[in-house]
Amino acid sequence: MSDAVKKSWLSFLTETLVIATAYWILARLGQIVAIHPGNVTPVWAVSGLALVVVLRRGYRVWPALWLGNFLGNAHAFVDISTSANAARTIAAGIAIGPGDVLQACLGAYLVRRCCTSPAAFHRVRDVVCFSVTQTVACLSSSTLGGLALCCESIVPWSSFGYTWLTWYLGDFVGVILVTPFLLMWHDIRRLVRRPGRLFETSLMLLLALGTSVLIFSDTVPSTFRYVTLLFVLWAAFREGSFVVSATVLVIASSAIGLISLGHRHHAPENMAEVILSQQLFAAVIAITGLVVAASLNELKTAERRLVGTMSDLQLSEARFKALVENATEAIVLLDMDRGRFIEVNRNAERLFGLPRVELLKKHPADLSPPTQADGRASAEAAQQQIMRAIEGESPVFEWLHRSATGDIIPCEVRLVRLPAMNQQLVRASMIDISNRRKAEEELRSAKESAEAASRSKSAFLANMSHEIRTPMNGILGMSRLLLDTDVTAEQRAHLETVVESGDALLSIINDILDLSKIEADKLELESIPFSLEELLFGTLETFAIKADEKGVSLIGDLEPALPGFLVGDPMRVRQILLNLVSNAIKFTTVGEVVVTVTAGAYSNGKVDVNFVVADTGTGIPEDRLARVFDSFEQADTSTTRKFGGTGLGLAIVSHLVDMMGGQIDVRSVPDEGSEFHVRIPFEVSTNPDVPAPGAPADDLKGIHILIVESNTTIRRILTRVMVDQGMVPKLVADGSQALSELRLAEDENRKFEMLLFDCQSPCPGDLEFARDLHALKNDAARLVMMLSPRKKREDVFCCDRLGATGYLFKPIRPTVLLNVLRAAIHGESSPTLSGKQAKLKSEIQPSAVKILVAEDSVVNQRLMQILLKKQGHEVVLANDGRAAVLETRKQSFDLILMDIQMPEMDGYDAARAIRADERASNSHTPIIALTANAMIGDREKCLEAGMDNYLTKPIQVEQLFEAIALALKPK
Ligand code: ADP
Repeated sequence: MSDAVKKSWLSFLTETLVIATAYWILARLGQIVAIHPGNVTPVWAVSGLALVVVLRRGYRVWPALWLGNFLGNAHAFVDISTSANAARTIAAGIAIGPGDVLQACLGAYLVRRCCTSPAAFHRVRDVVCFSVTQTVACLSSSTLGGLALCCESIVPWSSFGYTWLTWYLGDFVGVILVTPFLLMWHDIRRLVRRPGRLFETSLMLLLALGTSVLIFSDTVPSTFRYVTLLFVLWAAFREGSFVVSATVLVIASSAIGLISLGHRHHAPENMAEVILSQQLFAAVIAITGLVVAASLNELKTAERRLVGTMSDLQLSEARFKALVENATEAIVLLDMDRGRFIEVNRNAERLFGLPRVELLKKHPADLSPPTQADGRASAEAAQQQIMRAIEGESPVFEWLHRSATGDIIPCEVRLVRLPAMNQQLVRASMIDISNRRKAEEELRSAKESAEAASRSKSAFLANMSHEIRTPMNGILGMSRLLLDTDVTAEQRAHLETVVESGDALLSIINDILDLSKIEADKLELESIPFSLEELLFGTLETFAIKADEKGVSLIGDLEPALPGFLVGDPMRVRQILLNLVSNAIKFTTVGEVVVTVTAGAYSNGKVDVNFVVADTGTGIPEDRLARVFDSFEQADTSTTRKFGGTGLGLAIVSHLVDMMGGQIDVRSVPDEGSEFHVRIPFEVSTNPDVPAPGAPADDLKGIHILIVESNTTIRRILTRVMVDQGMVPKLVADGSQALSELRLAEDENRKFEMLLFDCQSPCPGDLEFARDLHALKNDAARLVMMLSPRKKREDVFCCDRLGATGYLFKPIRPTVLLNVLRAAIHGESSPTLSGKQAKLKSEIQPSAVKILVAEDSVVNQRLMQILLKKQGHEVVLANDGRAAVLETRKQSFDLILMDIQMPEMDGYDAARAIRADERASNSHTPIIALTANAMIGDREKCLEAGMDNYLTKPIQVEQLFEAIALALKPK
């Protein structure tokens, strides 16, 4: 057997012995007070102990109880038995035990099941439950015990009823007196902690004992015994259940003790009655005392709870009040049944300008004007909103209130129905929105004035554009006309300066307008097919002369793999390139400016085109690099700076690139040069109208060509172009190398079918060189010259002297080069202009026609007259739109040039009137708008008015003639 098991057995045995001994002793005490007849004990206190033991230690104590009971009974029976009935008494002793054990266990079981807690006698329900359950439990002991006594003939069957009853009551009284006292024993600590109460209680117990001794020792008549109940009630009022149980115990034990001791005073035949009445008395005062104590306790608890609830309520009300009073809104509580406010907060008083008492007397209708902002009657509209709230919605709406002084206050109101018993309560919270309204009003008028400012800014821009362009037209046009006349060299120089300055001024105006348009989001991009080659070389050709004058090589390098036609806004791409190339030339004094165009990634019919504009110029200091794309930002801001400019070009470029969904980047090394990288995605044109690039013809294949070119970049590009065509190029840097190469070829018996010479390279004007060349060049060999863009006298001499069969101008367009080479090979004269230019030139020379010029500015009238008459046209002038319309009614014209901004009738109305007249005669005179209005949308407005074309002032002569030619072209 393990130690733990041994230990538990030992403790079990000890517990059993202790309990059995205690049981035995208490049983003996009970038996001492037993009274004849039948050795009846009026109170069997041990049944109370047994119940406490089972409740505290559990059902496992039953053997201890049975043992104690057996010992007690056996002892009693030994006292009363003779040797003859010894066996029977022992048997009865054994038989009584189970009844008592069963009573304790059953009692404990029922208490646990029915009462809230075994030790609780603080609630009436628990006291009643305890009493009822023990009434039932005690049946077992008295029944089994009575039967055992009768069966063993210890008690005659005739006395069974009396024995059963007294036994039953004795057990019950034992339980009701002892169990509560023992179970609540720990409450004594509460008493001990309060000496005053301990003293009072002790005194009361002594008095109770004294009184009960007086009464039950028959000193006073026994009918006074209920006087003792006063002590029980006192205990209940003052201390509660524990002291009640102690008091009852004192009174009942003294009563029973005294009756037992004094039974001799009573006649034996009265004893049964005496015992029963004592038992009932003890049971009654015990139950009454416990019930009264429990009731009082419950009352006290309820009172405490009530007080707690009351203070909680007060607190909650205070909190609620603080919440409502300090709310930013005005709050009122409306009793719908009475149609009155029942609660208002301080803000409501403030809002309506009335004290609380006055406000509480008001009807809601008194606080609104008769009608609301939307014209509805306030009473009806309020009723509707309140009904919505009562139906459970929480409507929020704007409402006009009226204060006591009659002021109308716009408010935002929210209604909420409040939960209330038998009442319909609606809470209305109101916010004064006068300030909000004012702010909204201010915001609206601020917005309106901002819009008006923006409109007037746009109008100002348009006006400025018009006003500046109109005189510029006169200045530039007239200066150009003067340049065409016989002027002295000095005058020419001055005039050229005027034209240059005018052009520069115009470009600044254009830049400023462009930037304003971009910043006002008014610039729209076109989406039309265009040729990249035309765009690139067209742009470069614009700068060719300038670059040549500075001695800077201007080179275009277009990757052959690029699609020939793309879709985008060619004008704006050109503007980007113009800006970048113009800067590159401006900031470069020696070296070259190369514009390389290559294809990047292809995706979904789009191609990224990379433009690189590289120069060998001044470069940009590193700390300025990041800011060159900002408006008005220049790398060199010193007052002594060499180069002019506004600092707008790159800002416009970067905006345009951004608008096209591209990126721009700059790399630069001071004194070495700069590279501007631009990547723009374009759609590849699928338009069937645009010609697809043809496959290279093989008429140049295998041709040996000697190229003389000093610039390595051009050499590289030329080599690529030639090799692509199957030609065999040999490149040299200058004339003497060319002669050596020709000599070598002669020695090796090779032939060059073609020579391509850069005019600047082969010692121009050097007769010796020409002679040597003639000597070395075989007769069949064709010589093509690459000329500088300015047709210099030396270049012409050079060509003549060397016997060139063809020539072309720099920058070299690969397609033009190949055409010239082909023409030379086939013995044709050189097509010096690109196809498009040649075509246009022929179209620009239409036969003389009659033109109506509607123009209010006298300067411009004169300019137009001179320009058009020079071309052989007949010009009729009209001073305004109305005069123009009248003129068209008098005579017919081949073309009308129409200014837009004119007095009396503007160009739009005039065009409309002319078109209306024409509808009857079914004719159509082309009208070209000539306007200084260069803002976005102006072109569309002109076309809408029925005009055929649109040109902006200042008039570019070439453009004007081109447009006239186009308009007069037979359809
Ligand atoms: P600007 O009209 O002054 O040329 P831009 O916006 O075109 O205005 O250029 C801004 C500044 O960036 C220029 O003033 C110049 O200092 C610098 N910059 C632009 N391009 C070049 C370049 N190719 N080489 C050197 N500096 C350049």
